[in-house]
Amino acid sequence: MAARPGGVEALDNTVGVSDMCLLEPLSEENFIYNLYERYRHQIIYTYIGNVVVSVNPYQHLPIYSASVIAQYRSRNIYELPPHIYAIADDAYRSMRDRNLDQCVIISGESGSGKTEASKYLMQYVAAVSGKGAAVERVKEQLLQSNPVLEAFGNAKTARNDNSSRFGKYMDIEFNYKGDPIGGVITNYLLEKSRVSTQMAGERSFHIFYQLLKGADISFLKSLYLHRNTEHYCILQQDNPTTEEDNIDHNNFWDTKEAMEVIGFQSAEIVAIFQLVASVLKLGNIRFQHISNIDGTDGCKILDEEEVFEVCDLVGCDTELLLQSLTQRTVETYREQVKTDLSSFEACYARDALCKALYSRLFTWLVQRINESIKVRKKGRRKVIGVLDIYGFEIFEANSFEQFIINYCNEKLQQIFIELTLKEEQEEYISEGIQWINVEYFNNAVICELIEKNNEGILAMLDEECLRPGNVSDLTFLDKLDHFCCSHRHYQSRGCAKSRSDRTLPHDAFRLIHYAGAVTYQVEGFIDKNNDLLFRDLSRTMFECQHPLLKTLFPEGNPLRTSRRRPATAGSQFKASVTELMKNLQTKCPNYIRCIKPNENKIPSEFDTELVKHQVRYLGLLENVRVRRAGYAYRQNYQQFLYRYKMLCVHTWPNWRGSGEKGVQTMLSYLRLNPDEYAFGATKIFIRNPRTLFWFEELRRH
Ligand code: ATP
Ligand code: MG
Repeated sequence: MAARPGGVEALDNTVGVSDMCLLEPLSEENFIYNLYERYRHQIIYTYIGNVVVSVNPYQHLPIYSASVIAQYRSRNIYELPPHIYAIADDAYRSMRDRNLDQCVIISGESGSGKTEASKYLMQYVAAVSGKGAAVERVKEQLLQSNPVLEAFGNAKTARNDNSSRFGKYMDIEFNYKGDPIGGVITNYLLEKSRVSTQMAGERSFHIFYQLLKGADISFLKSLYLHRNTEHYCILQQDNPTTEEDNIDHNNFWDTKEAMEVIGFQSAEIVAIFQLVASVLKLGNIRFQHISNIDGTDGCKILDEEEVFEVCDLVGCDTELLLQSLTQRTVETYREQVKTDLSSFEACYARDALCKALYSRLFTWLVQRINESIKVRKKGRRKVIGVLDIYGFEIFEANSFEQFIINYCNEKLQQIFIELTLKEEQEEYISEGIQWINVEYFNNAVICELIEKNNEGILAMLDEECLRPGNVSDLTFLDKLDHFCCSHRHYQSRGCAKSRSDRTLPHDAFRLIHYAGAVTYQVEGFIDKNNDLLFRDLSRTMFECQHPLLKTLFPEGNPLRTSRRRPATAGSQFKASVTELMKNLQTKCPNYIRCIKPNENKIPSEFDTELVKHQVRYLGLLENVRVRRAGYAYRQNYQQFLYRYKMLCVHTWPNWRGSGEKGVQTMLSYLRLNPDEYAFGATKIFIRNPRTLFWFEELRRH
């Protein structure tokens, strides 16, 4: 592969077509070949109309410099080669000049480049928006929220060395001048199971390694920690290289600095690391089985030293913690009885505590960042929202987490359909434009199967979690079979239609998602949805002197009168996704569709089958079809005339008639084929992007 020049030249527009709408003929093969050709020349961005398709280059390209940003500034989308900056600029100017709130929805599978894309987007907006000390401070805080959240919420996985294990939506708020004045971050479902276990070759959240490798020895000592990661049972041992250690070391200081820029006090930073250390140390506690005289099982703690040190870190009564790790209080009608936990139950409770501590700390961090970046002044704000959320997941074994993540992706596909396909068709109707209807698969039926009140899978899971008596993951599956077998997107061995399907295990159900079929193992669904911590542990946490623990475990407050069960994980997620969808629907959507070119995380390798799969489930071809059946470009008459009136002697320099008449005069002067455009009620519609490129070319000469 030849080295390419830097700057905007590196985005040479002459390879393949820069807008998929120009493909002739349009086929999946041509679509993928075009991506490949461009990728081979290190051109990673291609448009479908105003959607950016981005292929992860897995190498640093010289296309994100200040000079490239300067070139994209205040230019229209078709003027320059495809780039995230072009979308960022369009969104920014629509927000600032036309008062239209924007959102940028970034989708794609793990490792496809979503988080990097979101950072380039933020970098662009920060670079082109206002100056001045106060604004610069806000920008710095917004940008620095990334390293903090990545340290605590990202981890190395088989698919991505820096995989986001949480969903993130960030509203960047601007004043009437278009200067950033603050923001709000919403986090979605952290993959907390990673705190206690990781698969071979994967790691836990970066912050654990950063702390151990990066902190001064005196700070580690004050946290009763060893530098060596092997000392900690909950950290995967995968023989880190010196280089990895160095990266963790440097990132620790970057994380700490970012926290300071955001406005964390030093005491808060210490408090955070005390909790991180406590998770590591609690994870080291082992239990030994003992048989009680009455024949029941009990257990004893083998690593009391760790318990003492944790108690010291979080200001906890030692007896209380020892007791709540090995016993639980059972409340009967008349009295409270303490029963011993078996060593198995104690391990389970310990892991639940580690996971709860860590995930609640994470949510607290997000809230704390929000506190720093929130807009304090009253007055109208404009917003650009950026959504970087986990892509569709199909693993060998899929569990509750994948079910939730894939549900979220179904909802995003719905939004895409609502806002792009459906709205596009509706715009033609409202503008009175003739066009051919394009069929597309509407996944609303699958969303319904999952989320419908009382009857959806989530509702049935909740019902099973609340039902007294013998409840298990398998009784949940029975219930699903009973209600869902007739649904065409549901399969299970319990349904007549798939009884003989040997590819389906007996303890699983399969959903035919818009992106493909996924088989979910039901094991753990009830537990993960319940997400309960033994009350003894939450009480103990609440009783600690540590400044954060009371906030993190409010349900441990003995004075709390509410006996209501906390909402289940599934219903909380459903509520937050519903909220998110409502929010996105109030904004003008912009899309970045990320594609991962190979599974090996290496540059220059393009795995056609892998790409084909992603192109299919992202519905990219349907997207092109809808775009092509209609018109690639539309703009209101005045704006269009303003930009192109110089191409016609009758409209240049001043046109006195209506915008529509002016555009008509201009287009007939240019002898554009009338099939190529249509006059809507308020806008001109141009069929082929090539026409725009031609206009742009004419403007330059
Ligand atoms: P996940 O869903 O696991 O969080 P993701 O889609 O957010 O994945 P990223 O973390 O953005 O993926 O990207 C994975 C890696 O790919 C990055 O760490 C980086 O090394 C590389 N990468 C992604 N986009 C680019 C880019 N535009 N230029 C150079 N490298 C990139
Ligand atoms: Mg990510």
